Amino acid sequence: ATPIGLLVGTGRGAQLGILIRGPQVLEDTRKIDTVLLDKTGTITEGNLSVTSATPAAGFDKAELLALAGAAESSSEHPIAHAIVAAAKAVAPLAEATAFTSAPGGGVRAAVGTRMVVAGRESWLRENGIELSDEHRASLAAAQQSGATSIMVGVDGSFAGLVNLTDTVKESSAAAIAKLKELGLRPVLLTGDNAAVAGQVAAKVGIAPEDVFADVFPDGKAKAVRDLQARGQVVAMVGDGVNDAPALAQADLGIAMGSGTDVAIEAADLTIMGNDLNQVTQSIELSRKTLGTIK
Ligand code: ADP
Ligand code: MG
Repeated sequence: ATPIGLLVGTGRGAQLGILIRGPQVLEDTRKIDTVLLDKTGTITEGNLSVTSATPAAGFDKAELLALAGAAESSSEHPIAHAIVAAAKAVAPLAEATAFTSAPGGGVRAAVGTRMVVAGRESWLRENGIELSDEHRASLAAAQQSGATSIMVGVDGSFAGLVNLTDTVKESSAAAIAKLKELGLRPVLLTGDNAAVAGQVAAKVGIAPEDVFADVFPDGKAKAVRDLQARGQVVAMVGDGVNDAPALAQADLGIAMGSGTDVAIEAADLTIMGNDLNQVTQSIELSRKTLGTIK
């Protein structure tokens, strides 16, 4: 391939709102057969909203939301933005100190004299908080209803659930149909729970056997490596800090323009419009560009 043809493709990419790190990227794109897609912010809008909060015994709803909101105030995760907004709608946020976050896990912070953790079950367990069978049952019920449920712990005890929902982008189903038309296999890879992942996959036409839920950030990179070991050429599309290792590992890493800087830095290509149709356009572009070179 001559570099000239590839550079023309790169310029066309810019016109389409696709930023390409270097001409070589388009050449790699041509061989892709599998496209891994993150859920939150990639297939979905990533603008979550809190639908309910269910406090555990000994906590009230306003307190649960206030503590969770304060603890989440330094996180850039879309879940955090939603919880902060819901908490602020009730009362001004308390200040949090000693903030820590585990990508794909959750957050921890001190709010006044209280130590607050929020995130998935494994993150609470890492922080010494075990869920009872009753807590686990209420979590399962919330997830079955389609919620992304965050567990909150306060001073070592389970304090309740904050339930959120997200909406699938209007453009996602058509873009995924187009990927399949191009002969590519779409796969959903998410840190969220299996019930929510399955519902989103069904809405956009991803086969149930191609859904991987409850995946940790290093699990996303491992999923890419496993497919590569089986001879697949893999594109990964994502936006989060948790997606960065997988974006770097993939043969082609594609970041959403609305994504975190870490994701954009790890990617080969950035989609400025946040529309998955631009992913299919970049694959078509590379095929066309390389077609004209031969
Ligand atoms: P996704 O793959 O859908 O983008 P992530 O890997 O970022 O999801 O997160 C996976 C899970 O980790 C979330 O569903 C949530 O349970 C938990 N989590 C991650 N970040 C946070 C946060 N800031 N607050 C609470 N929970 C979080
Ligand atoms: Mg995401």
